[in-house]
Amino acid sequence: MIPSAFEYERATSVDDALAKLAATGGAGKLLAGGHSLVPLMKLRLNEPTTLIDIARIAELVGIREQDGLIEIGAGTVHHDVATSDVLRNRCPVVSDTAATIGDPQVRNRGTIGGSLAHADPAADYPAMLLAVDAQIQIQGPGGVRAVPAADFFQDLFTVDLAPDEIITAVRFAPVRAAAYAKLYQRASRFAIVGVAASLDVADGVIRGARVGLTGALSHAVRLTAVEAALVGQPATGSATAAAAKGAGAALSDVNADLHASEAYRRAMVSVFTKRALDGALARV
Ligand SMILES: Cc1cc2nc3c(=O)[nH]c(=O)nc-3n(C[C@H](O)[C@H](O)[C@H](O)COP(=O)(O)OP(=O)(O)OC[C@H]3O[C@@H](n4cnc5c(N)ncnc54)[C@H](O)[C@@H]3O)c2cc1C
Repeated sequence: MIPSAFEYERATSVDDALAKLAATGGAGKLLAGGHSLVPLMKLRLNEPTTLIDIARIAELVGIREQDGLIEIGAGTVHHDVATSDVLRNRCPVVSDTAATIGDPQVRNRGTIGGSLAHADPAADYPAMLLAVDAQIQIQGPGGVRAVPAADFFQDLFTVDLAPDEIITAVRFAPVRAAAYAKLYQRASRFAIVGVAASLDVADGVIRGARVGLTGALSHAVRLTAVEAALVGQPATGSATAAAAKGAGAALSDVNADLHASEAYRRAMVSVFTKRALDGALARV
């Protein structure tokens, strides 16, 4: 439980962090809240030669709304996302999701950027970011780029992020009619199954839907069959029940571990898809 020896450096800006990261030639790691990286280092599953601390970079922290978009800095801790007035008023599914993460210690140190880069298959933010159609803002030696959440999460602990890049923010248009529903793993509070849903309803009819799933597969995905089944349906509980019914059965390669069997997870995907959809309906 003792990590390999490493150097520690503190970055003062995003440019400084990128320069320090480049100087390690691929052997360094960014350190944000440390709640995922440090346990891996203690198990020697990750042995960076240098840790570059980005936790005090002011430009990475904060939640702002501008030109119709909300931006959350990558260094913003889960507690600040959970308690943000902007998010609670304009896009409550985001603060609701953050409030379900871990315990107060985790929420006060862990960051949204660290969670996205780490990409634990049971992490909460990925499902929610799929449902609000967020863009992940990334900076690297080649400049700045934005990746849609739907393309960012690629496989187990694998995302569209190069070792010499840094996530700077996530950006999305606020969605009111959206909700997150989660089956908690009792000890850590990670998601055994977590579903986020957002609905576009006009004149009592569902015009569009986005449903993000975490916890059940190697990485977060959109439930496109559920989304398609909702479009054109009346905005009622019967429509959400019909769309959610086969959601779990339709999945391939469902996780099984000591917390839940494959069959149980499949059943819970349908149950929590229905709950997330009904939560979104209640906010229409
Ligand atoms: C007891 C416990 C319970 C938890 N429960 C939950 C839960 O219920 N739900 C949940 O979703 N998560 C949970 N977590 C994980 C938690 O949310 C972590 O905070 C998060 O996964 C990592 O964020 P961090 O800031 O601590 O990142 P770190 O641990 O500092 O970094 C993680 C990885 O991301 C990289 N990184 C960090 N910031 C950036 C950046 N801006 N750009 C590029 N790469 C970066 C690092 O180099 C490292 O590889 C739990 C953790 C613990 C310890």
